[in-house]
Amino acid sequence: MESCRVAAEVMPGHEVDSKKVRWEELLPREFRARQEQTPIVYLPLGLCEPHGHVAAFGLDTFKAVWLCEQAASRLGGIVAPTQGYQIHETGYHRPWLKEVIGETNPNLGSVPPDVLLRMLLLQLRAFVNAGFRVAVILTGHHGNQADLRIVAEEVMQVRPIRIVTVSDPELARGAFDGDHAGRYEISQLLFIRPDLVDLTRVGDIDTSPLGRFAQGEDAAEASTEYGRAILEYSLDELERQIHAALPYEDAIDPLGIDETDEIWQRILARKGEWRTLSERNPDLAHES
Ligand SMILES: [Zn+2]
Repeated sequence: MESCRVAAEVMPGHEVDSKKVRWEELLPREFRARQEQTPIVYLPLGLCEPHGHVAAFGLDTFKAVWLCEQAASRLGGIVAPTQGYQIHETGYHRPWLKEVIGETNPNLGSVPPDVLLRMLLLQLRAFVNAGFRVAVILTGHHGNQADLRIVAEEVMQVRPIRIVTVSDPELARGAFDGDHAGRYEISQLLFIRPDLVDLTRVGDIDTSPLGRFAQGEDAAEASTEYGRAILEYSLDELERQIHAALPYEDAIDPLGIDETDEIWQRILARKGEWRTLSERNPDLAHES
């Protein structure tokens, strides 16, 4: 989707290949050059969950990946391997699934909070030890971000890494209202991956044995231009939040596995705060 990408800023005379931003794709010399120029790492978090009959399961993942890759192209830095599984089924998720899916198999890629949060802690450890000074945790699955922030807070208590944790509807807040598989979300996938949206299926909610399958009421109003507007606004806001987290430290001591286990015990001690275990989530207005 080259036509959808924001043009990368090419620094004259600099040997960084600004087109390649994925950790998986970089050679050692390229990784070090990018990191030396901008020691920011971006972690996209998504999920496979129902987004109606009109859109692919991975909608949340595609939003997060797009924003991280565009930010890395624009600001520099490296995009870490995508976290494509997310917290679901616990706490407030359970009644939500019952309401929008019913008894149908949601074909869900979910993991419980203790698994996801411990994985995030170990991912942040990997980022510190790989030499990054700033981490951007961007979730396309809205509602879990308060719990992700608990992990980020506990890591920042022991290491001076700057961590920005945000969900995509938070980036668009004030300009666009988030939703689940409605005009807001479907428009974004239409812009990023039009091949993964089929608006002719919008009426399947009345005929399919799957029922509504979490489709938003205004999904039919989705448009590429609306998606572009949301994403460009969100990208500008992400850039603003990253700049607000700077400056970064010159060097950060590595995190050992024992010390990481101690951080995990502190996160577990805050289990009473985990929103993904709670029946109510003040962050949630059925978005994403
Ligand atoms: Zn979504």
